[in-house]
Amino acid sequence: MDRLVQTTQELLNFRLNAAQRHAFEVYARELLDWNAHTNLTAITDPADIEMRHFVDSLSCLSVINPRQGALRVIDVGTGAGFPGIPIKIACPAIDLVLVEATVKKVRFLEHIAEQLGLEHVSIIHARAESLGQIADHREQYDWVLARAVAALPILAEYLLPLCRIGGHCLPQKGETAHQEVIEAQHAINLLGGKVIQLTPVELPTVVDTRYLVDIEKVASTPPKYPRRPGMPSKRPLG
Ligand code: SAH
Repeated sequence: MDRLVQTTQELLNFRLNAAQRHAFEVYARELLDWNAHTNLTAITDPADIEMRHFVDSLSCLSVINPRQGALRVIDVGTGAGFPGIPIKIACPAIDLVLVEATVKKVRFLEHIAEQLGLEHVSIIHARAESLGQIADHREQYDWVLARAVAALPILAEYLLPLCRIGGHCLPQKGETAHQEVIEAQHAINLLGGKVIQLTPVELPTVVDTRYLVDIEKVASTPPKYPRRPGMPSKRPLG
């Protein structure tokens, strides 16, 4: 994990301590172990796990300021825990909710949260569309995260209903980020969001530029959104 510690320091000016470094070692080991029987990730080279999963997840910290006290953070479609769990390892004070629709991934999340002794993490087996209509979750979160879940016009309908007014959504995107923002402009406005900025992230050993799309929640989401599960992807808001 030398590379992880060094890159996190250089890229994010964030120093991981020995316990955090150990947590990432356990995480990588368990991910690979479980991946032998449960399909969790296509990335299996240890150096790639460090860079493409761990550092890429931690790159959100170049926009989120974790020193703002106990932030409520939700990661939608977290899969094997990205970006939520690396951020929780680095910033233990956050309150983290992980949302995942696939039960076998939920089982892994429960396992890894226990192995790492993570506190103030709740793991929810649900679809984002359902959660967005539940009062305990609707417009409750300071930061709403998602990586590799859906195209932005669809993703906006998953994320913005969960975000409190004044909070932010921070989807992680690849080279298509600018184009997706243009295509999602109407959906983002309709749902109460406003694009603040796109922050490029250059990861060592990764050729493509990654982008953090910072969307502020400036107005309440109309009650009819999100529509029922499946509808946002079937009929994306044009
Ligand atoms: N964020 C992780 C996983 C990406 S794969 C990563 O970057 O590695 C996308 C994940 O989102 C899958 O595990 C899928 O089950 C989940 N997902 C897709 N649509 C969803 C929805 N509407 N609600 C909740 N989870 C969803």
